[in-house]
Formats: sequence, C-alpha cells, structure tokens
Amino acid sequence: MEEKSVFEMILNKEIESEIIYEDDDIFSIQDINPVARIHLLIIPKKRINTINNLSDEDTLLVGKMIQVAKDLAKKYEIDQSGYRLIFNTNDDGGQTVYHIHLHLIGGEKLKAF
Ligand code: 5GP
Repeated sequence: MEEKSVFEMILNKEIESEIIYEDDDIFSIQDINPVARIHLLIIPKKRINTINNLSDEDTLLVGKMIQVAKDLAKKYEIDQSGYRLIFNTNDDGGQTVYHIHLHLIGGEKLKAF
C-alpha cells in the first residue's frame, strides 16, 4: 500500500500541525517553511497525488478549495492587498508532497514572474 502523505499524517494527528480551517472535504494549515508573511496550504482530505490525477468527479472539490482559499485570504486580511494561488505539479513544478494542495501566498509584495 502507498505510504501516507505528510498531510494525511497531519490530519490523523500523527504529525503536529495546527489546523486553521476544516470542513468535511478540506483542511488548511500554515506552511512549515513559509515563502512569504502569509503562506497557507489548502488540502483535500481525499488523497489525490497530483493535479494530473484529477478526475471529473473532483471538479467540485477543486472549486471548493479555491473558495476556501478566498475565504482564508479575507480572514488573514490579504484579500485586498493581493495574493497568489499555486498548485505545484511533479518535479519541474517543484512538487514535494504528492497529495494535492493549493498554496495561498501573500502578506507582502511578491516577485513577478
Ligand atoms: P509542494 O512543494 O509539494 O508544492 O508543497 C509542499 C509544502 O508542504 C512545502 O511548502 C512544505 O514547506 C510544506 N510542508 C512539508 N511538510 C510539512 C509539515 O510537516 N507541516 C507543514 N505545516 N508543512 C509542511
């Protein structure tokens, strides 16, 4: 059987991390290695390894992840100043945890790319 992802371990309380948002399908934590003042991860409870593994039945889930990101941006008061939402995918994309997650990054001026 596939090893548990670090995010499954956090959800199961096998690894300590404060859960800042949770509903039936999604949870959110602060990134342990933030790249900006605000760096949150929005994670589906269901393990999906990469964006490449999304199926049609996941469309609503991914939409909900973006809705949660929007709400958290407001809660953390960066909705007006601005923020970035990123899904890293596979090696070239910089993905290190193979359980999809949406990065919400902001709280300071981010470098353009
Ligand atoms: P990726 O590189 O896959 O897009 O993003 C994985 C993110 O998970 C990284 O930004 C990394 O800092 C974060 N991360 C990895 N392990 C842990 C952990 O144990 N706790 C928390 N809060 N974040 C983690």
